Amino acid sequence: MGLFDMEEGAFYRCQRCTNCCRWPGEVPVTGEEIDTIADFLGVTADAFIARFTTLRRSRRGLTLIEEQDGKCVFLDGIDCRIQEVKPNHCAGFPNRWNFPGWRSECEARPEWASDDDTRVKG
Ligand code: SF4
Ligand code: SF4
Repeated sequence: MGLFDMEEGAFYRCQRCTNCCRWPGEVPVTGEEIDTIADFLGVTADAFIARFTTLRRSRRGLTLIEEQDGKCVFLDGIDCRIQEVKPNHCAGFPNRWNFPGWRSECEARPEWASDDDTRVKG
């Protein structure tokens, strides 16, 4: 997956607008992530899979389920219920993956290393 519309050397700091948690689309989860999130929620991996995931369209792996309006099942108001252990797919946007036109839908602001040396991703 490519990167689009990035300013040279910038790190895009998330502003927690939650738009990326609200638009429809898959949030793939690996087996390791399933174990970690299930542990965080205090349920078994099987229970987590049954309650919170479904088969990806490609039929290769699992994705978090979404509500009828397309928002992620773990979005609670403006908070992610699994923020501490959210999947890499979430943490990686928009710095490790994005799509053409992403900046019109994401409020992350570009910063450069000299702006702040204590950057935190996602
Ligand atoms: S897991 Fe959390 S960060 Fe990822 S889409 Fe769902 S609510 Fe958003
Ligand atoms: S990554 Fe962008 S779209 Fe997602 S919550 Fe942060 S600012 Fe909003």
